[in-house]
Amino acid sequence: MLDEEEFEEVSNLYRGAFRSSEPTLEARFAPVSRAYERLTGYAGCHPNVVIHHRIAQYGPPCRACGKPLRTPEARYCAACGTVRQEAVDSSR
Ligand SMILES: [Zn+2]
Repeated sequence: MLDEEEFEEVSNLYRGAFRSSEPTLEARFAPVSRAYERLTGYAGCHPNVVIHHRIAQYGPPCRACGKPLRTPEARYCAACGTVRQEAVDSSR
């Protein structure tokens, strides 16, 4: 698992891949896979898997600043401190 700092690094590389001038997708996203391997020891993980696994753990965007809440159950925004207003799903 990536902590926030590690994920920031990997997600920066991921975003950078879209601006890369490398000719193949594989070459563009290679830095993402390499960073993930260095941080976690898992080699050959597909960049989309790396990113989507982590993002899936975020909650919905903050209504005040638009940053994703740290977890789906977060009660307030870690970035700006705004208390979440929508009801947490109680059907579970
Ligand atoms: Zn916020």
